[in-house]
Amino acid sequence: MRKNIVAGNWKMNTTLQDAQALISEIVHMVQDEVTGSAVEVVVCPPFPFLSAVGKQLPEGGRFHLGAQNCHQKESGAFTGEVSAKMLQSVGAEYVILGHSERRQYFGEDDELLSQKLKAALAAGLKPIFCVGETLETREADETFNYISKQLKDGLFHLSNEEFDQVVIAYEPIWAIGTGKTATSAQAQEVHAFIREQIARAYDAEAALNTSILYGGSANAQNARELFSQPDVDGGLIGGAALKSRDFTEIIKSF
Ligand code: 13P
Repeated sequence: MRKNIVAGNWKMNTTLQDAQALISEIVHMVQDEVTGSAVEVVVCPPFPFLSAVGKQLPEGGRFHLGAQNCHQKESGAFTGEVSAKMLQSVGAEYVILGHSERRQYFGEDDELLSQKLKAALAAGLKPIFCVGETLETREADETFNYISKQLKDGLFHLSNEEFDQVVIAYEPIWAIGTGKTATSAQAQEVHAFIREQIARAYDAEAALNTSILYGGSANAQNARELFSQPDVDGGLIGGAALKSRDFTEIIKSF
């Protein structure tokens, strides 16, 4: 079901102590200051802190726990890896998949991501599936082709029922961690395009019901404008999710 979501991707940042202090501040600020608006908040700390951070989230409220990755197999001899079922067992409800940093630094391709998606869904996790183009692709006027291929090859193999569980994040690579945000018009244009592709691959109802988040240098200053676009249902926030005041302001932007 389509919802407004603000998700914080903490990436490889914080110690346990930092993580606990950060989530404590966020929970207090959000509880004190965000009263009416129906926005779901997803926090995605590093694996070792999931359990501890999860315990600090008020139950039954707007807060949800997410992980940043999972392995495609359920269990076995895969030293150093973490399965979707493990994440589910420590309270994670979401998992980010296909982040450009995973694609770029860890060689994750559409085939592998297809398997990870299946594994996440089988464990009852909701994937936050990321797509987005490089600056080169944008400048070559290939953005739509590129995104359409990422969606087709990585995501649209899912059944209707499986696809229902998916949140999509549009994260233009040139905007991630660069301070260079997509304009609200650029974001809206791609979000509308993604929704159109969903309608083609599934149906109009699936397109209407999918939450599509924007990510890439979103902050307390630009969130309101981005979130006011008709096809932008929230944000996947990196840097600004590590600052309780900024993250809370972003949540308040709805
Ligand atoms: P920044 O908000 O730091 O640009 O990161 C965005 C991102 O990659 C979230 O997944």
